Amino acid sequence: MDLLKECAGAESIGISTHIRPDGDAVGSSMALYLYLKKQCPNAEIKLFMETPPDCFRYLKYFGDIDSAYAYDKPFDVFFVLDTVPDRLGEAEKFFDCAKKKINIDHHISNKNGCGDVNVVLPEIGSTSEVLYGLLDEAYLDTDIAVALYTGIIHDTGVFQYSNTTPQTMRVAARLMEFDFPFFKIIEESFYQKTYRQNQILGRALMESIRFMDGRCIVSCVDKSMMQFYDVKPADLDGIVNQLRNIKGVNCAVFLYETGLMEYKVSMRSDEMVDVSKVAAYFGGGGHMRAAGCTMKGTVHDVINNLSLHIEKQLKEKEVCTTES
Ligand code: AMP
Ligand code: MN
Ligand code: MN
Repeated sequence: MDLLKECAGAESIGISTHIRPDGDAVGSSMALYLYLKKQCPNAEIKLFMETPPDCFRYLKYFGDIDSAYAYDKPFDVFFVLDTVPDRLGEAEKFFDCAKKKINIDHHISNKNGCGDVNVVLPEIGSTSEVLYGLLDEAYLDTDIAVALYTGIIHDTGVFQYSNTTPQTMRVAARLMEFDFPFFKIIEESFYQKTYRQNQILGRALMESIRFMDGRCIVSCVDKSMMQFYDVKPADLDGIVNQLRNIKGVNCAVFLYETGLMEYKVSMRSDEMVDVSKVAAYFGGGGHMRAAGCTMKGTVHDVINNLSLHIEKQLKEKEVCTTES
């Protein structure tokens, strides 16, 4: 896809990403916003998403993000990044009536793309890395590099997860040539947590339960706990990764209560479990080793339903390894 050709002549361009935006969602959509602002000076360009966590405030034009979704005309071009429309939240209304829809993503659960033009590459670790491949090198600048770098480090766990490839490192190296304090971005946007975030992390770890001989672990945070520690859903990011880091664990499940008998589910795994399949079964999606969904029922129902699918995969793998 030639990004600028697709936008040629457009008078209005909208960009949005998934609800509860993570580093890749914020980084990729901000990078595209910065790029188009410079390259399409005659177009009105709008960037919509739920208010991102404060740790991303260093991004240039962070204040331009419209979380009120205030726009009342159909966009000539509308970009959906790092998701499919059903997780756009309020921005779905812009997608529905846009004249041209462009989908840039890397979720394996996004089978065909949802746009008139689609670039969906599940083998690539972040939408930011996918987007880098679509931008003209000559038009990159430091602000764009910072935004793309942010997305890449967040979705690869600072180059730790198996979605990191030699090409990821080449892209990151190229971005670092723009000479920004990458170490500060890693520290402040990825590793640093507030006192309250750490407290609820500690509580979630303390109350976690292991099953299947310690190969699976689950923890749940309910609304009263979130109120007690005065935290928002975004403050819970990272808990599931800590659960997955425990020795012997193949699959970690973290739940938090979103409504009456409703839970947001986050799963992380190693090569023993494909959590994108588990999440897809319950109407969600994601990647092989990081996926999520929303489920209804009591916390016990949710855990029982998920664990059946996880255990099935673990048992199938066991059979394969004993047979070979
Ligand atoms: P999370 O556990 O929310 O951090 O999400 C892990 C991965 O799964 C991310 O790539 C998300 O974009 C994706 N994901 C989470 N929830 C859903 C959902 N309900 N539908 C599709 N993808 C999801
Ligand atoms: Mn994302
Ligand atoms: Mn992503």
